[in-house]
Amino acid sequence: MIQIKEEISKLVSLLNKYSYDYYVEDNPQISDTEYDTLYKQLEKLEEKHPEFILENSPTQRVGDKVLDEFEKITHKVPMLSLSNTFSTEELREFDSRVKKLVPNDKVEYICELKIDGLAISINYENGKLVSAATRGDGTVGEDVTENIKTIFSIPKVLKEKRSFEVRGEVYLPRKSFELLNKERENNNEVLFANPRNAAAGSLRQLDSKITAKRRLSAFIYSIVGDDSIMSQEHALNIAEDYELPVNPNFKLCKDIDEVISYINYWTENKKDLPYDIDGIVIKVNSYSTQEEIGYTQKSPRWATAYKFPEEELATKLLDVELSVGRTGIITPVAILDPIIISGSTVSKASLHNKDIINELDIHIGDMVVVKKAGEIIPKVVRVIKELRTEGTNKYIMPTICPSCKEQTYVKENDPFTRCKNPDCPDQNIRKIIHFASREALNIEGLGDKVVATLYEQGIISHTIDLFSLDRTRLISLDRMGEKSVDNLLNAIENAKQSSLDKVIFALGILNVGKKASKILAEKYLNLTNFMNATLDELINLDDVGQITADSILDYLSDENNIRFINDLISIGMNPQYEIKEVNTDNIFAGKTVVLTGKLVELTRNEAKEYLEKNGAKVTGSVTSKTDLVIAGEKAGSKLAKAEQLGIEVINEEQFAIMVREVQ
Ligand code: NAD
Repeated sequence: MIQIKEEISKLVSLLNKYSYDYYVEDNPQISDTEYDTLYKQLEKLEEKHPEFILENSPTQRVGDKVLDEFEKITHKVPMLSLSNTFSTEELREFDSRVKKLVPNDKVEYICELKIDGLAISINYENGKLVSAATRGDGTVGEDVTENIKTIFSIPKVLKEKRSFEVRGEVYLPRKSFELLNKERENNNEVLFANPRNAAAGSLRQLDSKITAKRRLSAFIYSIVGDDSIMSQEHALNIAEDYELPVNPNFKLCKDIDEVISYINYWTENKKDLPYDIDGIVIKVNSYSTQEEIGYTQKSPRWATAYKFPEEELATKLLDVELSVGRTGIITPVAILDPIIISGSTVSKASLHNKDIINELDIHIGDMVVVKKAGEIIPKVVRVIKELRTEGTNKYIMPTICPSCKEQTYVKENDPFTRCKNPDCPDQNIRKIIHFASREALNIEGLGDKVVATLYEQGIISHTIDLFSLDRTRLISLDRMGEKSVDNLLNAIENAKQSSLDKVIFALGILNVGKKASKILAEKYLNLTNFMNATLDELINLDDVGQITADSILDYLSDENNIRFINDLISIGMNPQYEIKEVNTDNIFAGKTVVLTGKLVELTRNEAKEYLEKNGAKVTGSVTSKTDLVIAGEKAGSKLAKAEQLGIEVINEEQFAIMVREVQ
């Protein structure tokens, strides 16, 4: 309990500090998503322990302090915030909550772009713009009337002499943001972190001449104090009629599925807008239904902001699990409080090795920032140490293998903790899974589960045992019918005919991937030669560096591995590499060629195959050793590098002419 109280209090002070930097200083210190996830964490804790809610908690108020330098304006109707949703599941929950509150109403939603700027309230009296204020703390805002008058799109006088308040978002178009930051860079001034903060900093200027120079814009999304308005759609139409700037992309959606389609559309297309949006605002359309649904202290219950997923989010590190790989490396895996990143739930992230753990300074129970590296593999980026509670201990890698309980070991200058026991169960299971995997020998029917079962039942204890499986014994296993057993046995038999590169890859040598396996196959032609590889030979091979060479020799110096390869040969798995006939008498022979950009007439693979058949070596990056670059459409940095190095560059058409010459 004391720990939870401490956690809440730490979260409150940290979020308040971040809010101050964001709202008052216009200088955020962390990403919005990181802020939002910490905020959610606080909300979760407060929901479970309302007795610990602090008065100054950010969940209890809107915005932040109002700057003293400005005159103050009290809003006639408080300016609230919006609740956030981060996934379609949460949106559906929002929809269910709404429908529960108004079971007799037909609910339609208006979707609007969530412009990433700052909220503004503008008062018109008898058709004249008389005052404008920022949202401030929701009750009192800063008087920015003169500054608002510098924004061209906001009418100073309406075409009708009406009195009402309008609300909207002031923003800085992306182009203006770039120009502004360029100017600031030239003047050695601190750059704005993003268009939102630049807009806030530009509007909250005491000298409106400065604001005028900043090229701000605005969109209006609500009208307050006009009783004739029946719905949000109606309000937007009226605002358009008054020639107020209304964002044209709003859409009336008849149900939550349509809302989700709208969101999907803008997730894809938001990059084409000339301004930043950070989400979609979803509002119940009918005003009378809105009134029925009501408000929380901080936001309307009838609206929510769907925030576009970003890559970095904060969550709690619940535990560290260890996974023993096929090479004996023990990888620490962070077990996380599940969180949605880029649309999928993340509950684990690799912590790689002891060096990374030390660098991050991981304690179990820490709040950590998680990122989806390259959109796929989640990664722990850092620990939020300010939120660390007392009594947590630094995580230290184990000295005992979690699978076989043998002593682990660490090599000098090597970050990995390893298990060297050849009988380690997890290691052996992983080795067999790798051996049978699609990329290796592609033994159908021998997936992770089947391998684990065969191992646990004592039917196999090493990869070589796959070649002496007993049909009757297999059929006696649960869920193994005669047909699937026969298919499996056939697949294993067929695997004996695999090519040399596949077999080398299937051995599962550390650092030897598919590409290195191919190079090794080309060099050694069969397994017997490969077993006698020397350091000199290996490091002279293209794409095989010292680390890979060491791994190979390490593998081949282990008598268990040599016995395994010899066993493979004796059961009939002894592939010979077939040397492809290469035409060496042509303009491509002996040349190192790089393909870049998009080719139209043929695929890159076809071009590569053609070049290799004609004696060229196709590599991935442009270096001083490159002889020729074939640049297709939209070639980028490789083309630039080739030009810089003075390497011959030809386009696809010129390539085609050369091909014709060869034939
Ligand atoms: P919000 O920005 O999440 O949502 C409410 C605001 O959305 C409204 O006040 C309005 O200004 C804006 N909006 C834009 N388009 C709209 C539309 N069509 N209809 C209605 N409203 C629209 O909430 P907030 O209270 O202004 O700010 C909280 C957010 O600020 C957090 O979720 C976080 O992302 C960010 N923040 C970041 C940090 C940081 O350090 N990075 C610190 C504090 C707050």
